Amino acid sequence: MNVYDSGKMLDVLGDSHGMEVTHDIDEADVLLMNTCSIREKAQEKVFSELGRWRKLKEKRPDLVIGVGGCVASQEGDNIQKRAPYVDMVFGPQTLHRLPELYDQSNEQREIAPKNRIGTIDVSFPSIEKFDFLPEPRVEGYKAFVSIMEGCSKYCSFCVVPYTRGEELSRPLDDVLAEIDSLAAQGIREINLLGQNVNGYRGEKDDGSICRFAELLHYVSHVDGVERIRYTTSHPLEFTDDIIDAYAQLPELVSHLHLPVQSGSNAILAAMKRNHTIDVYINQINKLKAIRPDIHLSSDFIIGFPGETDQDFQDTLNLAKELNFDHSYSFIYSKRPGTPAAELPDDVSFTTKKARLAEFQKVIIDSTLAKTHEMVGTTTRVLVEQVANRHPDCLIGTADNTRTVMFPHDVEKMDELLGKLVSVRITDFVSPHMVKGELEDVLA
Ligand code: SAH
Repeated sequence: MNVYDSGKMLDVLGDSHGMEVTHDIDEADVLLMNTCSIREKAQEKVFSELGRWRKLKEKRPDLVIGVGGCVASQEGDNIQKRAPYVDMVFGPQTLHRLPELYDQSNEQREIAPKNRIGTIDVSFPSIEKFDFLPEPRVEGYKAFVSIMEGCSKYCSFCVVPYTRGEELSRPLDDVLAEIDSLAAQGIREINLLGQNVNGYRGEKDDGSICRFAELLHYVSHVDGVERIRYTTSHPLEFTDDIIDAYAQLPELVSHLHLPVQSGSNAILAAMKRNHTIDVYINQINKLKAIRPDIHLSSDFIIGFPGETDQDFQDTLNLAKELNFDHSYSFIYSKRPGTPAAELPDDVSFTTKKARLAEFQKVIIDSTLAKTHEMVGTTTRVLVEQVANRHPDCLIGTADNTRTVMFPHDVEKMDELLGKLVSVRITDFVSPHMVKGELEDVLA
C-alpha cells in the first residue's frame, strides 16, 4: 500500500509541477517521506531519518521537506513541534493535495522565511483523493490498484482505522477504468489493494453494490489481464463466493495471503478478530478442495498481551498443520489509542523474543520445504526481465511469489517479456528462487 501511495505522490507532483524522481538526495529540491505506523519500530525510524534531513536543510535552506503517511496522520502537528524544519505534513488520504501544500509552503516561505508555519492536512476527505489522481504511469508488467481505503474492523491491536479512517470503497467503474488504462500500457498482473480488501463494497453505476467476488470477475474480463492478486484480506470477509471464484477464474493466482494472527481462540477473541480457528481452517479446506495447488501465507502477532505458553503452542501447531508457504510474524507492538494498549501485559519481552525465534524457525523451514517441493513440477511464471547477472536467462515470478529463472535464446528474449509461460522447475537456488526450463507460452 505504501509503495502504491508513494507512486501516487510522484504522479501528482509530476503532473502539477513537472517534478521528476531522483535517487540522489543532493540533487533533490523536495524530500518526501512516506511513513508507516503499524508497529512502533517503523514510527521511531521517522524521527531518526528526519534528524538526518535536518542537516541537509541547514546547508540548503531552500529544500522542501514533506512527511506523509500514517505517522503523519497520527502525529499531525506534533511532527512540526518535534521537527520544525518540516514544511508539509499530509496523511494517506490527502496525498492528492500535495501540489497545493507545496505551493502554500512556498508562499509562506516568501512571507515569513524565518517564522514559517508549515502546512498540514491530515484529514479524511472521504474518497475524493481518487478523483484527483492523474492517470497511472507504469513500467513493467505488474501494478497495484487500490480498490478500498481504511478499515472498520477495529481489531484491538491495530492502528489502521485511526490513521487511514473507516472503510471506503472506490466505485466499480473507477477501479475498472484504472485497470483498463494499466492493461493498455502492458500491465499483465494486477494486485488489488486495500486494508480489508475482500470487504470491498463498491457502488455500480446503477446504484447497486458490487462485492469483492463480483469485482474479481470483472477484473478477469479486462483484456490483457492475465493474473490477479489481492492483499490484504480478512477471514471474516472471505466468503464462499470468493472461494468459488477460484474455480471459475484461472487468472486468480494459486496463492492466498489470509492473515490469521494467532492459533489460539482466546487470543483471537482478545484481538477482536471475531472468528475462531475452526472457521479459518474450514475456509482453507474449502479452498484446497477447489484449488489443490493453492499456496498459503499469513501474518502472525506473537506475544499479544496475556498470551500463555499454551496459546503460543496453539499458534505453533497451527503453523505446522497448515504448512504455510511463507508468513510474516511480528512481536506485538502497543499502538497508542488502540484498545489492546490498555490490556495488562504479563509476558516478558525476553519470552516474546524467544517465542518469535521459535515460531520463525517453523515458518522458515516450511518456506524452504515448499521451494524444494517445486523441483520436478511445472509452474506458471510471468516473465519480467532478463536476469542481471545471467544475460542468457529470463526471470519472472511464480504464483507463489518465488522468483523463477530459466535460460532462453538471447536473440529472442523480447518475445517472452510480459508473457505468462509454464516452466518446468529443475533446481533449487535459494529459499525464494528456483531454476527451470521453458515448457510453453500460455498467454
Ligand atoms: N488487514 C490485515 C492487517 C494488515 S496490517 C488483517 O486484518 O489481518 C499487516 C500486519 O501487521 C497484520 O496482519 C499484523 O500481523 C501486523 N500488525 C498490525 N498491528 C500490529 C501491532 N500492533 N503489533 C504487531 N503487529 C501488528
